[in-house]
Amino acid sequence: MEIEKLIKSNIREIPDWPERGVSFKDITPLLQNKDIFGKLIDELAKPYIGKKIDKVVGIDARGFTLASALAYKLKTGLAIVRKKGKLPFKTISKKYSLEYASNILEMHKDSILPGEKIVIIDDVLATGGTMKATIDLVKELKGKIVGIDFLIELNYLNGRKKLKGYKIRSLVKYISGSKIKKVKKLAEIGIIGGSGFYEFFGKRAKEIEVETKFGKPSGKITIGSLFSKKVAFLPRHGRNHQIPPHRIPYRANIAALKEIGVKVIIAPTAVGSLRANIKPGDFVICDQFVDRTKLREDTFFDGPKVAHIEATYPYCKELRKIAVAQAKKLKFPIHSRGTVVVVEGPKFSTLAESSWFSKMGWDVVNMTQYPEVILALELGICYLNISLVTDYDSGIYAKSKIEPVSIEQVLQNFSKNTDKLKNLIEEIIKNIPKTQRVPRKCDCQKKSERAGI
Ligand SMILES: [Zn+2]
Repeated sequence: MEIEKLIKSNIREIPDWPERGVSFKDITPLLQNKDIFGKLIDELAKPYIGKKIDKVVGIDARGFTLASALAYKLKTGLAIVRKKGKLPFKTISKKYSLEYASNILEMHKDSILPGEKIVIIDDVLATGGTMKATIDLVKELKGKIVGIDFLIELNYLNGRKKLKGYKIRSLVKYISGSKIKKVKKLAEIGIIGGSGFYEFFGKRAKEIEVETKFGKPSGKITIGSLFSKKVAFLPRHGRNHQIPPHRIPYRANIAALKEIGVKVIIAPTAVGSLRANIKPGDFVICDQFVDRTKLREDTFFDGPKVAHIEATYPYCKELRKIAVAQAKKLKFPIHSRGTVVVVEGPKFSTLAESSWFSKMGWDVVNMTQYPEVILALELGICYLNISLVTDYDSGIYAKSKIEPVSIEQVLQNFSKNTDKLKNLIEEIIKNIPKTQRVPRKCDCQKKSERAGI
């Protein structure tokens, strides 16, 4: 257990590498540390001491760093598995499939002799494809596989499934909701909002880390209880408000909430007004959006199966009803419907853009509603937006000489109204029927089913 902690604390998480949405586990800090690297190899060697292993097989490329040290420790030979075209002598090869492509691994024909006792090692067990191909290569050369070892296992990618029948060991595991049944029901209601919501739950809240196949969400998820309902809070822009709107991992956020069992998402946002009668401090319960974003990964329906979500009414009608009723009860200034135009940001709109939005009859402008609402709908989650108006957008200023947006004004108005917003969300949560017990009157879930997944 101690070694696991030591290893984990020396693995560096690199977000969005090698591509957006992937959280890379960088093991170089482990290799660089003279104390830890040795301990790590000793730990890997433990089960094989005295077992007369003949060869350690390392997989291209990070597997080599571990395999050669392990081979030295166990006093064995080293055989290597490489990607196609890298080995100069006679080779055998195996194809393995990646999510949307395939790759080929090769070994020299003479790298393993029939009957040799083999340990295979790689740095990460993800979907298990490369290891499965390696096993097939070793078997073709008639090697006898004694053990398969990984430094890291990404449990949520189910790699072990592909490697059934073999002794698999990993020194550290990264677990997401998908693998733990208990995690499935951690919360039924999710809030995606600003950091002001941490206070909701008091001291009894717990934080969990969830990782999805779309990468890590914006931050840890806080789980607590409100009115005997389990509620999860996810800070949209990260714990320290460090993620700008166009860099938010929208898919990971929605997937993470789905993983832990969330069926309803309440999503407060700050918006700019595009109409004189929608004033700073007002609340708008949006029922429509117009998407003006351009750089976001905005669907879970990414093929190979083709599916299309019905988006005529993307926001949950039942949740909207509850929200409007509660806001009226609290005597808050409320607009019971509205169209939000979602811009890419992070810049605010130009005068021409803002005037155009107003002229089109759209009500408020924001940078995060899309694709959040659509992603939720694709997964059959009911989604409610509560827009809090922080300022008049620049187009309204041109028309009516109402002051245009300034960042100070946005922040000031938002914090001034945060208590009201929290109050409203509490009342909404209180009045949401127990989703698990009561059949939902809305068709959010059915839309997702009809989409074809
Ligand atoms: Zn719904």
